[in-house]
Amino acid sequence: MNPFGGPLVIASHNEGKVKEIRQLLEPFHITVVSAATLRLPEPDETGTSFAENAVIKSTSAALLSGHFSLADDSGLCVPALDGAPGIYSARWAGPTKNFTLAMERVHKELAAKNMEPEGQPASFISVLSLTSPAGQTETFEGIVQGTLTFTPRGSEGFGYDPIFVPEGYDRTFAQMPLEEKQTISHRARAFKKFVAYLKTQAIAEAV
Ligand code: IMP
Repeated sequence: MNPFGGPLVIASHNEGKVKEIRQLLEPFHITVVSAATLRLPEPDETGTSFAENAVIKSTSAALLSGHFSLADDSGLCVPALDGAPGIYSARWAGPTKNFTLAMERVHKELAAKNMEPEGQPASFISVLSLTSPAGQTETFEGIVQGTLTFTPRGSEGFGYDPIFVPEGYDRTFAQMPLEEKQTISHRARAFKKFVAYLKTQAIAEAV
């Protein structure tokens, strides 16, 4: 059964994200294909918010592929750094996507502000955006609060997972099996809202 009448395009070239979204979609038996597999170009993320960038990505993939498309724009937000790296989370890793450097930069920027890096409050935010082939879009936001820890711990997950300890836990996201991260993550929380929306829509009677 495919509620979208064709594959759902995951508008991301980030393998870590695609893996998580695929796993979240698994129980719904939705046929999924990634933008990378379809060789769709990555649009410039020129938005000034997670929602704007998510909409840019899902709209581009939906219009180019002719299929429903789901994008995620997400990032780590540190209030003591005025919300940085925020929408620039991927860009802090540079062209080689070096997250060791990105995590070090978070530490460095906190220290430069005379803020204690260890235990510093932070959150992950995800905005999922669903665009129809006709260009109609809905967005869904999820957030998880936590604290930062240095040195990085764990080898699961991706991005900033090794320095993020979600509230109520003493392990980082990178120390959790994916199934456990998926019970509390920002992306999973946004995904719950996405599924609730699908249930209200004719496009997804089967969900
Ligand atoms: P985007 O592709 O511009 O949305 O980049 C999001 C970036 O935020 C990723 O490259 C990661 O650095 C970071 N990020 C988002 N979600 C997560 C997560 O679940 N764990 C770790 N890092 C994340």
